[in-house]
This record gives sequence, structure tokens and C-alpha cells, in this order.
Amino acid sequence: MKGITCPLCHGPMREVMGKNGAFLSCAEFPACKGTVDLGPDGRPAPACPGDPAHGRMRFFATGKRGPWFGCKKYPDCRETLEAGDTD
Ligand SMILES: [Zn+2]
Ligand SMILES: [Zn+2]
Repeated sequence: MKGITCPLCHGPMREVMGKNGAFLSCAEFPACKGTVDLGPDGRPAPACPGDPAHGRMRFFATGKRGPWFGCKKYPDCRETLEAGDTD
């Protein structure tokens, strides 16, 4: 995907299918395990609104109120976003 680089090695990424739908995996996998989750609209998950240094959030396809994003630093960071809110 254009413009999105691996959060670990900053190399190119490729789209793969996972349990929660498509996500981006580092082109160097398995040597590099960098991933970026994609939201329901197919766009990359947003950065953590609490601290951008936490990186892009993790996508969860199901929740009480529908799909949502949660910070990868949980439980240290409890920021969440509803997946419908990210335009
Ligand atoms: Zn990588
Ligand atoms: Zn965070």
C-alpha cells in the first residue's frame, strides 16, 4: 500500500488476510514482524490520539458498539476510537 511503511524497519508493506480481515504485513516478513491494521474502510488504523509515539492502533472487528480501534500499549494506554469516527 502506497505511503505506508513498516513501523519497525520503515520498508514497504503488503496486504494480507487475517482473522479480523485484511491488514498490512512487512514485505520482509518473517524476518521483520511489523504490521499495520486496516480499518473497515480499508484504510490504515489511525495513530493513538493520546500519544502518537504509541504508533497506529489495533483494529477490533467486533465490540459492544461495533468495530473499534484500541491502542497497542493497552493496558498502559486505554485510548480507543470507534472505527466509524475516523474520517
Ligand atoms: Zn519491517
Ligand atoms: Zn496510546
